[in-house]
Amino acid sequence: MADSVRVRFAPSPTGPLHIGGVRTALYNYLYAKKNNGSFLLRIEDTDQKRTVSGAEEYIYSALEWLGIVPDESPKHEGSLGPYHQSERNEIYEKWVQILIDKGLAYYAFDTLEELDAHRKEHEKKGKTFIYNWHNRLKLKNSLSVSAKETGEKIKSGAPYVIRFLMWNDGDDEVVRCPDIIRGNVDVDCKLLDDKILYKSDGFPTYHFANVVDDHLMKISHVIRGEEWLPSLALHIKLYDAFGWTTPSFAHLPLILKPNGKGKLSKRDGDQLGFPVFPIQWGEEMKGYRETGFLPEAVVNFLALLGWNNGDEQEVFTIEEMISLFDLNRVHHASARFDPEKNKWFNQQHIQALSLSSFAQLCKAEVERHTQTYLTDEKLLSMAEMVQPRVVLLGDLWPALKIFFEAPDEYDSKAIKKVWKENTATLLQTVAERLVNEDHLKTDAFKSLLQSIAEGAGTGIGALMGPLRLVLVGSLTGPDLLQLTHTLGARVVIDRINIALMEIS
Ligand code: GLU
Repeated sequence: MADSVRVRFAPSPTGPLHIGGVRTALYNYLYAKKNNGSFLLRIEDTDQKRTVSGAEEYIYSALEWLGIVPDESPKHEGSLGPYHQSERNEIYEKWVQILIDKGLAYYAFDTLEELDAHRKEHEKKGKTFIYNWHNRLKLKNSLSVSAKETGEKIKSGAPYVIRFLMWNDGDDEVVRCPDIIRGNVDVDCKLLDDKILYKSDGFPTYHFANVVDDHLMKISHVIRGEEWLPSLALHIKLYDAFGWTTPSFAHLPLILKPNGKGKLSKRDGDQLGFPVFPIQWGEEMKGYRETGFLPEAVVNFLALLGWNNGDEQEVFTIEEMISLFDLNRVHHASARFDPEKNKWFNQQHIQALSLSSFAQLCKAEVERHTQTYLTDEKLLSMAEMVQPRVVLLGDLWPALKIFFEAPDEYDSKAIKKVWKENTATLLQTVAERLVNEDHLKTDAFKSLLQSIAEGAGTGIGALMGPLRLVLVGSLTGPDLLQLTHTLGARVVIDRINIALMEIS
């Protein structure tokens, strides 16, 4: 095994990066940072037919937004590149030749039609066709025909693939597959097929390129999704065939749909109305970013889909996660995706922002919607009132709007509840008495309300509800005295007057 921790995220650019892929990237990142190691991004683009334009850029943008920044990547290569598999063909050609020379890989000339016919024939007999030790000598390959014939076929340009010789008489039958999360799994090699290492299009398959690259890039730990577990035996056999030491493996648990029934899929977002992508893809598919999530919240809820620190803590900063992350604490049971809980994580991270950072978010939002110039004092005061009320960043403007615009409408249930016969007169008195105050000190304003209420033989409560209603349109919202202080006397008077026309 390599001395230092080197891990990699190795996506294929076949579409937007799904939240499950992001979790894999995150666990690799956390593990690397925890161990002062390196986190690599390798683009596995050997399957040219499946490569989708824009998908690679999407991977960079998504990781950047989330702060999961690779130490080595196609954009920032280390010494063991290239980091695009499509640029490594010469390397794969060299290594596949080594396997052929060792007698551990061979050319196969069977056409797709022939293989299909074999499959169908087997099916008819209720059997499964597996290309391996028990029939390879009856099929068309360099083991079943002479070297001369093989040479001639290749020369004549006949299409071929290169297959791995999985098991031969005399070899060990069992391959032990150790996994940090699942322990050891023993697999019977005789049940496995002679996997294709090189396709007829001249490109290596995932399995071959992946193993060669992990070795040459000195990967110490392979941390990836559970869907790759069935390939582990083949990968270990490939390392053995080269005489290479295997890295350690950790296969992460599946992420399930919110109802727990089946794997979370790319389509679930559309159907169930929550994002399954980090950032927007195309026109329709919104990401967590566009839905108003903070990247630190997304990283937090993803980290907990499969890992916990063994205690009750759920909200973590990235630094805390780095220091606590442990592959031995990743569970193998599938993790259920919970969109509602994800919002809760976002809210927690919004509350955890310092007032000045949160105020910067507010400032950007205000600038987007109005031309108003804000003093720092005013901005901070608004931010302070709004921060406890925001779950998603999309809640920012609706919460801030009350500082800039009179309500569009007044909640009719609230009117029924608080609007009494004397309300209009009371509010009018407030407006009149405010005329000489340009700055509403909260204490002074409270005394003013008290004296007006007392003068009318009622309590301050009779004024608070209606005042809130005329200022924000409903009975919810921030502390009334802080609100009026921030709005200023002029705005309060205007809103009283507007409401008196609308409501009375
Ligand atoms: N290219 C594979 C994928 O798209 C990588 C799997 C692995 O990490 O070995 O998931």
